[in-house]
Amino acid sequence: MGKIRRLPESLIRRIAAGEVVERPASVVKELIENALDAGAKKIVVTLEGGGKSLIRVADDGCGMSNEDAVLALERHTTSKIATEEDLYRIATMGFRGEALASIGAVSSLKLSTSDGSGTGVVVTMDNGAVVCTEPASVPRGTTVEVRGLFRHVPARLKYLKTDAIEQAHALRIVKMYAVAFPEVSFTVLKGAETLFFSAGRGWDLSLFRALYDGAVAHRLKFFEVETAVGKARGWITPPDYPSGRTSAIYAFVNGRPVKSQAITGWVREAGRFALPEGKVPFLVLFLKVPPEDVDVNVHPGKWEVRFRDADAVRALVINSVREGMMTEGKGLQQATPPRPAFTPRPAEPTLDLGTKTDSGPPQTSRPLSLSGPPRLAAPPFRVVGQVFDTFIAAEQGEEFLLLDQHIVSERVLFDGLKKGAEVPGESLLLPVSLELPAGAVEVLEELRPRLKRVGFDWVADGPQKIRLTAVPFYMRVETATASIREIVEDRLAQSGAALPQEEDYLNRLACKLAVKANTPLTVPEMERMVRLWQKTENPYTCPHGRPIFIRMSRSEMNRAVLRPSR
Ligand code: ADP
Ligand code: MG
Repeated sequence: MGKIRRLPESLIRRIAAGEVVERPASVVKELIENALDAGAKKIVVTLEGGGKSLIRVADDGCGMSNEDAVLALERHTTSKIATEEDLYRIATMGFRGEALASIGAVSSLKLSTSDGSGTGVVVTMDNGAVVCTEPASVPRGTTVEVRGLFRHVPARLKYLKTDAIEQAHALRIVKMYAVAFPEVSFTVLKGAETLFFSAGRGWDLSLFRALYDGAVAHRLKFFEVETAVGKARGWITPPDYPSGRTSAIYAFVNGRPVKSQAITGWVREAGRFALPEGKVPFLVLFLKVPPEDVDVNVHPGKWEVRFRDADAVRALVINSVREGMMTEGKGLQQATPPRPAFTPRPAEPTLDLGTKTDSGPPQTSRPLSLSGPPRLAAPPFRVVGQVFDTFIAAEQGEEFLLLDQHIVSERVLFDGLKKGAEVPGESLLLPVSLELPAGAVEVLEELRPRLKRVGFDWVADGPQKIRLTAVPFYMRVETATASIREIVEDRLAQSGAALPQEEDYLNRLACKLAVKANTPLTVPEMERMVRLWQKTENPYTCPHGRPIFIRMSRSEMNRAVLRPSR
């Protein structure tokens, strides 16, 4: 007796379904792709129980004829390709003809559709078999309703998470497509509640507001960078506005949404120099590379991508993220929404067929500059006062900030000590005499060029004495003399021991010379400091990774006191 058995058809279907349908979000994805393929301009998704009890996707696309509606539910039925050649020029999101059959195999599915040529049809399917087909009056378009996903597949059901988590996954999918297809309107409903809405008017402020929230959307800036390997463009927040979650990153490769560990890792890497540990920018990133240089068939869900020249793409991502974060870009208010960058004509799975994707008209883009770090755009700050003798209170546009005066001045001093960026000194009308330990005058002489750049000046007055003639503008004379002593003692204590790395030493010096907490400052002093700080190389990095300021927007304040926003 042989041991090999032929599997029953229902089991085969379920196994196949397992590859396409992992959770409610994957159903949402497949149905949205079908709606987009049908040319829909408006897609409405309804979720109940995070999609576990109900997923309904309604579109206003081309719909199907009555015969097609029944055929569509069978496996390997598709209108999208007919011959093998078609495989080589796929321009649709789907083409395998498996999604509907697979979803139907693990749920109760109802398909209502009409191509507008007559009355429509409603086909119901339960557990893989069509149970009913009846004519019905349906407007042009298609609605697919999926109930009780995995109800008959306990092994799968068990792996689903809470409603809230499944809903979040499904919502994320919709958001990704809403960004990839900005000309299509997307709505997500849960009972009477609208979880998401995009108007389909292109990449405008309202779309990004729906994607993140108003405060983030207002800070997003457009960027565009091109290198030999491809092009990166999108929107990003400046370094002072990071997120702790990688879900802040929306990435697209050749118009197709991707969930790529690699890309997330590169964004992290790019942010490391400017953002606190573990933070990433809010980022919408469109990568365009020649289709033959990317394989989207790595993951059955088609999420992960593999680049032929991953190093070059990594460099492109890192450079564009840095450039985008650090340079002044157009915000969303001023920008007329650019046309969709890359005609979303996904090069689908397939073998590496070298599908030609329409690249559209040439885009103008700034060449990648590698000469020195980009300067930060400096929107005007208005210093309004000091809080607890420790924080500089300032207003900037629609936001209120409390800057840590110690870190701000530390940044300024670090730059000044390192290279030229000068911190003005104030000459003392009455020079102050300082008695110092042996060797101190030499140590100071060695540091003279650096200390001069941050505002100190002195004349030697014998082997163990100096006369201090100028001090940094923000320092009282007593603090200045104490700092000088401290620096000298620190250096003398080190002699003999290996000298620390230059950068480390400068950081240490900067820390010693910086304004301490609990130090009163005048408004002009703080203004001067803030202006210098804005010009520093990395204003938003504290060497110890601490955040530099607390920020609150006008709308957050209004919300806090329940004042209706304008
Ligand atoms: P695929 O998308 O890979 O072709 P599917 O199983 O997802 O396979 O869909 C099968 C076929 O059903 C599609 O090729 C298309 O002709 C039709 N179809 C599915 N969904 C829709 C829709 N929302 N509007 C119009 N036609 C659809
Ligand atoms: Mg499909």
